[in-house]
Amino acid sequence: MNESISISPSTLSFDWVGCKRDFWISYNAPEYAPPIYKTPAIFPIIDEAEKEAFANLYFDELDPSFPAGKVIYSQKHIQSTPVTIEGFTFIISGYFDSVLEMRDGTYGVVDYKTTLPDKESQGLYAHQLQAYAYVLEHPAPTSLSLKPISITGLITYNPTDRLTIEKFPECHLDGKMYWVTMPYSEKEFLQFMGEVVAVLRLPEPPEPDPNCKLCLYREKVREIKW
Ligand code: SF4
Repeated sequence: MNESISISPSTLSFDWVGCKRDFWISYNAPEYAPPIYKTPAIFPIIDEAEKEAFANLYFDELDPSFPAGKVIYSQKHIQSTPVTIEGFTFIISGYFDSVLEMRDGTYGVVDYKTTLPDKESQGLYAHQLQAYAYVLEHPAPTSLSLKPISITGLITYNPTDRLTIEKFPECHLDGKMYWVTMPYSEKEFLQFMGEVVAVLRLPEPPEPDPNCKLCLYREKVREIKW
């Protein structure tokens, strides 16, 4: 088993909240990992449009509920120094969406998502955002170093069901944007990484979810020898 791996912040959202067996396989036996389905092209386009819309302004000028900072870096690769928990060493490495310089000289980490600004999104993406904050504060020697990170959160774009056609074929899909704060605590993040490590260092993948239809299907196919 690999005892020194690179963990991607984005896998700490969907992949982690899903099946731990798949999570284990994707890091310890990636050749057997389930295929990664490509994100529909529309989402990166919306993300890019959001980044452009927020590029040169202090976010709080739009609304006081948004962070008092402006973007200084976007889509940049970062990597942490090695982290060791319970004898298991790993690094964290990935691309953040945007980093803000705050009016008070501290820094913020922002991710753009097309989603509802509800508790579910908050829970889903919190660890991904915390991972970026951790890496920026504990960077590898060649990686971007920014400290302190005072704010982390999401800018969510929530499309409405209203499509306006002004001059066909041009049209506008209306929507609303929200700021969702996700407080960062290094202590809590490392505690969470302890849970991740506890799964990754298992000698074998965790048992499958007995209710997962895909696993039942795979089992059946093996049985029938199709
Ligand atoms: S239980 Fe489902 S999600 Fe988990 S490993 Fe099996 S197929 Fe994948």
